[in-house]
Amino acid sequence: ALTLDTTWTVRWIRRSAEVLAASRAALNTLDRDIGDGDHGENMDRGFQAILPKLENLAIETTPGTVLKLVATTLISTVGGAAGPLYGTAFLKAAGAVGTAQSLDAAALVALVTAARDGIVLRGKAEEGDKTMIDAWTPAVNAAAAAQAAGSGVGALLLAAADAAASGAQATEPLVARKGRASYLGERAIGHRDPGSQSTSLLLRAAADVVLA
Ligand code: ADP
Ligand code: MG
Ligand code: MG
Repeated sequence: ALTLDTTWTVRWIRRSAEVLAASRAALNTLDRDIGDGDHGENMDRGFQAILPKLENLAIETTPGTVLKLVATTLISTVGGAAGPLYGTAFLKAAGAVGTAQSLDAAALVALVTAARDGIVLRGKAEEGDKTMIDAWTPAVNAAAAAQAAGSGVGALLLAAADAAASGAQATEPLVARKGRASYLGERAIGHRDPGSQSTSLLLRAAADVVLA
């Protein structure tokens, strides 16, 4: 595919809901180790709440309106840190794609960059603080590099997903400087940040639903 449309956006969110439901226990376990054990529950609740809203979308729906729907649903149904952070990410992503009917490589870079910047604006985390930013920022960099190299949208999303997965894994040896895990000091070492893992799952879902 050269560009991705509303159908891709809806597939992405549906696949994300599926994967988050299947990963609910694993994400809770990660969060039990260095937080309060609810990250899987939070993400699953939020994405399940979006599903009925994806039925009977208006004919004039664009990728941006889907992203905005995700944002408002996450903000209203997911509590804790992740709800407002992912909500802001999807809201800023919606703003970045505007009213476009389809997204090319440049638009996808704008989408992930705006999402990451929204999370930073809201949560003030820097790379290395052991948060979801440690998955988002490598993904943004990989997406931008793929676009600069002339990659298509599918390859770009695969590169972003791979970078997010590596970034999530790389949170394991870190001490946390933001969020609940920061209260643990060195006891957070050896555990993966749950939000970085959910980001990795979301970006993998985005790549997986691109149809050749
Ligand atoms: P809570 O900690 O309120 O229970 P969740 O468990 O749903 O919320 O989400 C925790 C995740 O949120 C963490 O694993 C981390 O990735 C992310 N997070 C927490 N604080 C911040 C922050 N300031 N900036 C970016 N991400 C953060
Ligand atoms: Mg939690
Ligand atoms: Mg909580």
